[in-house]
Amino acid sequence: MKRKSKLNSIITCKCPRCRQGNLFKEKNPWSYRTMLSMPDNCPVCNQDFKIEPGFYIGALWTSYPIVVVVGIILFVLLSSILNLSFFPVAFIIAISLIVLQPPIMRWGRSIWIGITVKYDEEFEKNN
Ligand SMILES: [Zn+2]
Repeated sequence: MKRKSKLNSIITCKCPRCRQGNLFKEKNPWSYRTMLSMPDNCPVCNQDFKIEPGFYIGALWTSYPIVVVVGIILFVLLSSILNLSFFPVAFIIAISLIVLQPPIMRWGRSIWIGITVKYDEEFEKNN
């Protein structure tokens, strides 16, 4: 199996230790009830996903910058390229961020656990 890069495993929400197991139970981030439900452990390498109580509160620190970056990109695109005025731009950004909230929250968690849990090359060799 080809090894995934760290960035690839974060974007695709894979376990940071083995880069194979899914962090989330449901593939579709827009399924409202299950968008943040995660298994207790990685289905592939058994890495603990609930590292400590409230662990993912820290993911606010990693999802917030994504929101800011997406907002800035949309602002530049809409105001300079499409030449829209402030209120339509603000409205489109607000709607876009609401629609993008589920994947952004997932990426925030994926980055957060990716910072905490190191990739285990040995795991891949031994399995
Ligand atoms: Zn794993």
